[in-house]
Amino acid sequence: MAKFNFEKIWEKFISDRAHRLSTSEKFAAKPVPSVYLNALKKKAERLGVSVDAARRSESRSTDAYPTPNCISPAELTDFINSEELDEITIHHLGECAACCALLEMATPSEEILKVLLEEVRIRVGAHAVNLEADMPQIFEPVP
Ligand SMILES: [Zn+2]
Repeated sequence: MAKFNFEKIWEKFISDRAHRLSTSEKFAAKPVPSVYLNALKKKAERLGVSVDAARRSESRSTDAYPTPNCISPAELTDFINSEELDEITIHHLGECAACCALLEMATPSEEILKVLLEEVRIRVGAHAVNLEADMPQIFEPVP
């Protein structure tokens, strides 16, 4: 088996990148500024706090989504292909408005979504009803 040669892979990566960007390898080897990091620095400046403190406040405000139980890309694909979601995911939908919104946007047909959400209603009951205020269209009963 060939030995893993990081330098060689890196050189190829840079040369491919230089070619793609029609620029020199020297320019292509420069680090790309992170949009996220720049935004974070600006936020930190605006709030008069350290970048680390800005990052922490960022992660606190978004830590509700995704949770470990949130729908993964693979599960979303299964759902779009009309495969059944597993029990844990169905229960999770009863308490996660973000995942419900994701399914709503990705849903292949209203019929499939209605069937799934009826499942949520049946298995989770009260939790699903709690979401009614946020997403009344999702929790309409299946005719
Ligand atoms: Zn979720």
